Amino acid sequence: MQGANGNDIGRLFNFFTKSSIIWNIQNAYIPNDTNGRQVNALTSQWDGMPSDYLSTTLNTTFVNNATDVAVGRTLIHESLHAYLIQWGYSQGMNANTTMAQLVDGYLGSLSPNDIAAQHDAMANIINQMALALQAKFPNLDLNYAQNLFWAGLTETAAYNTLSDDQKSVIASANAAETYSQASAKGSKACN
Ligand SMILES: [Zn+2]
Repeated sequence: MQGANGNDIGRLFNFFTKSSIIWNIQNAYIPNDTNGRQVNALTSQWDGMPSDYLSTTLNTTFVNNATDVAVGRTLIHESLHAYLIQWGYSQGMNANTTMAQLVDGYLGSLSPNDIAAQHDAMANIINQMALALQAKFPNLDLNYAQNLFWAGLTETAAYNTLSDDQKSVIASANAAETYSQASAKGSKACN
């Protein structure tokens, strides 16, 4: 994935569409996390189902308030979780298997349910994720798109290397798109 470009990430959607993998996307209310923050979406294997059944739940509260750009951003983020979860399971990995045993160590100790490791992997390809969003929203500034993806990656080491000024810009852009504020670049989705 290190060499992936925006089109490659866009093709993840084709990957799920054309393979035998079922990627279900649904809306439901998701409670806030333990810090009281809104959870935009969750992706997991379906419990008790074969490994090639994946489910992403978009928080109805998020979808009702966010712009189309924010929802698109979240779907790209969740598609990568689905891909990485499926990739791990397809290799017969368990929670203790390292990705280094699968590919050249690039993703480190990634397991299908290690969300933190998946976020570290995403932080390494944030430019490509932004390009994938820009492919859908051509008028979106690339730097702005990158800032939207940082919102889901704030617990990564890479995020912590950013300046306070940049973190502030990231927070503002994400608030604008999440709550369809006047400064948002995206449009309010119909509801
Ligand atoms: Zn995530």
